[in-house]
Amino acid sequence: KNAEYRRLWSEDDVQNTLPTRKRSSHKGTYGKGLVIGGSLNMTGAVVMTAKAALKSGAGLLTMAIPNDIYSVVATYFPEVMYYPCLSKDGYFSGEIDINQYDVKAIAVGPGIGRKDQIKKIVEAALDLPVPVVIDADALYFWKDYDSIIKDRKEATIVTPHPGEMARMIDASIHEIESNRFKISKQFAMEYGCYLVLKGPFTIVTTADGKQYVNTTGNPGLAKGGSGDVLTGMILSFIMQHENLRDAINNAVYIHGKAADHLIKNGHSEMDILATDVIEALPETLNHLY
Ligand code: AMP
Ligand code: MG
Repeated sequence: KNAEYRRLWSEDDVQNTLPTRKRSSHKGTYGKGLVIGGSLNMTGAVVMTAKAALKSGAGLLTMAIPNDIYSVVATYFPEVMYYPCLSKDGYFSGEIDINQYDVKAIAVGPGIGRKDQIKKIVEAALDLPVPVVIDADALYFWKDYDSIIKDRKEATIVTPHPGEMARMIDASIHEIESNRFKISKQFAMEYGCYLVLKGPFTIVTTADGKQYVNTTGNPGLAKGGSGDVLTGMILSFIMQHENLRDAINNAVYIHGKAADHLIKNGHSEMDILATDVIEALPETLNHLY
């Protein structure tokens, strides 16, 4: 029971598990996704998350954003639906009613900010009986809802970079980075969640402690926005895959692979932007099918 299960997630794994779109599918076949995030000084994060979700197969997507940024965010997409929420000083006010949406999966956190009332938004997401991806500043108040996470029956997918992880468990970044496997496993098993500990060689750990290492990606991803793109991809893959382990690992793999494709196609690690990674998804996905 305590035996270690660790392995690489390979291109073969991706090809064996990446779902093909059914000929008979329609926009609702893969369910509705909900992205919750954004604030006045971070309007771009949630835009990248939503765009990445759309470009990786989400059929229907709603963005819940503070009303204060609605007019900026809404200019980016004709394809998504909006739930403009009550704002307070450019952030969510804390009031949100997502029960009205028949969602299949939620991603909460990109650009959401660190105001106290953000807790209520994250808790509202965790309250719905669907898989929830928690990222970025939604992790800032982790200890306020860690018991809710333990009690959840549906999957929770937690996607910290080492700095966020350090804060969540009161450790230093150095401690995290020198014990990535052990700390990930302990955390995922304690909370009964999927943990995606990001960075070069991202580790995906399942709630039963199995660990998968990603080898794609390059330092061109060490830029603001990269993680927001990954969150959108995880959200849309959860909607499309039957198996969550496959969904998460494939998202992590393809996110890195898209950055690697950019290098092959004349980009440098310096110039790659998070939005370029989204633009590289068509070629990356095309190669895998
Ligand atoms: P975030 O810090 O939330 O923006 O997430 C950064 C994303 O880029 C994660 O998916 C990381 O795994 C990835 N990333 C950052 N730096 C590197 C690197 N040096 N090599 C490979 N992937 C990286
Ligand atoms: Mg991030």
